[in-house]
Parts: sequence; C-alpha cells; structure tokens
Amino acid sequence: MLKSLDQLFKENEGKRAIGSFNVHCLEMLPAMLEGAKELDAPIIIQTSPGTAEYIGLDLLVSSMNTLVERLGISACLHMDHCKSIEFLKEAIDAGYTSVMYDGSSLDLEENIKNTRIVTNYARSKQVSVEGEVGTIGGAEDGLVVVAEDASYTHPEDAYRFVRETKVDAIAVAIGTTHGQYKSKAKINFNLLTELSANLQDVGLVLHGGTGVSDEDMRNCVAQGMKKVNVGTELNKSYIEEVNGTFSSATPLTSLRKLLLPANNRIKDIVIEKSRLFQLM
Ligand SMILES: [Zn+2]
Repeated sequence: MLKSLDQLFKENEGKRAIGSFNVHCLEMLPAMLEGAKELDAPIIIQTSPGTAEYIGLDLLVSSMNTLVERLGISACLHMDHCKSIEFLKEAIDAGYTSVMYDGSSLDLEENIKNTRIVTNYARSKQVSVEGEVGTIGGAEDGLVVVAEDASYTHPEDAYRFVRETKVDAIAVAIGTTHGQYKSKAKINFNLLTELSANLQDVGLVLHGGTGVSDEDMRNCVAQGMKKVNVGTELNKSYIEEVNGTFSSATPLTSLRKLLLPANNRIKDIVIEKSRLFQLM
C-alpha cells in the first residue's frame, strides 16, 4: 500500500531525508523502485502534471501499487508543482498519496487561501500536501516554473503559511534552482538554519537537488531537510544513455536492449542519491 508523505516523515525521523524522484516515463519506474529496494530505503515517486497526463493518473497509481507490493518497499506517489486545484483533486481521487500545490507565483494571501482548499480536501482522504513559499527559479518539465528571478523564502511568510494552511511539507527557496546541472548552487545555510529551527512540525523540502554538491547536500540533510527532489539528473542521464544505444541500433534491435542501460543508470542514481540523503 502506498504511504502518505506524512507517514514517511514519521517513519524516517532522525534517519534521513527522503529522496523524491521525478519519473519522466513509465519505463523508468521499475528501476527507480528497485533502487530503493536494493538500498532498503523509502522512496517518493513524483510526477509533474505533464507527465501525469502523458502516462495517466490511473496507470501511475496501479503501477506504483503493483511494484510496491511486489518489492515490499515504503513508497509514496506525489504530484509535483501543480497550479490547478482541480487536477490535484483528480490525482487524490485517483490514489496519489501526496500532492504539491504551487501557489508561489501568487501573493501570500491568495497562496494561503488556495493551499487551504487543497489541504482541506486532502485531509479527508489521508493525503499529504506540500506548499511553496518564496520562488525557486528555473525550468521544470521543459516549462519555466517561475518567470522572474527566484527570491528567497521570507521566514515570517513561511511561518504564517504553515500555521494557516496546515501543510505537511513546505518547499523553501534557499538558493537552489530547477534544472541546474552545469554548476552547483550556493545555499543560504543561515536561512535554512532559521527556517529549520522554527518549522519543526512540518517537512522542509529542497527542490533543484541535482544542482547541489554532495557536501552541501549532507549539510542540508543534517540541518533538517526532510524531502529532496531530484528530477533533472534522471532526465539528463536517461537521454545520455539512449543517445548511445539508439545511435547504433538497427530496425531489428530489440527496443528492450536499447532501454535497459538507461534503466540501470536510473537505478544507480536512485541508490547513490538515497545513500547521500541518509544521516550519518
Ligand atoms: Zn520543484
């Protein structure tokens, strides 16, 4: 059975941040969950609304349920960065166990009002909710998540947001960027320390995990980060692998053989990142 984000937070308190990996196509999914199984780590599989529409909510939920049962692992299915309350309700009804309402482009009042609609709906179905305060810049799923430059989370806004929306998790802007893979982020650790000290009842979420150095990542987890999103690295690595295999394929080469190296690479990334997110 799929678990909510809140359940995973409780089970992993003091042990680790939980890796939240973007599935970009269905082929990747078994490899991701097998990686979690191999490390005996919990895993969050997240979809952008675009990927969810591409694969289908029902197919994602049933695939997750089948694989979780087969492998006997702890996992959560989460909707990443969704600006549509209606689509989040559909995802919850379909069986997602966690959703993110992204109202970060709205003013704080509006963000709180909309997020509260989602938390009220989710609560009745034991589904967790992540919100966002401040803007994490960059592009995700090929779309620009925020148009203007990113801005750090204002601590007072975050405290009020959490108090009034009762979210289970909050994405904070502390210097990471979506889609960053050529350079490494400069993390504002003073801000993280302050947020972490004052937001102990809610899970802090780090977006843009691909662009964080291993050393900074260990520090973020030690400072109380509870969920770390990794999307770009999976997409980028899959493309690198299939570029290699497809370029030498003939029309009679089994597609399976062309995809297996990419799937194996995905599994390795899940293992490597999940290991990095463990507390020493
Ligand atoms: Zn994000």
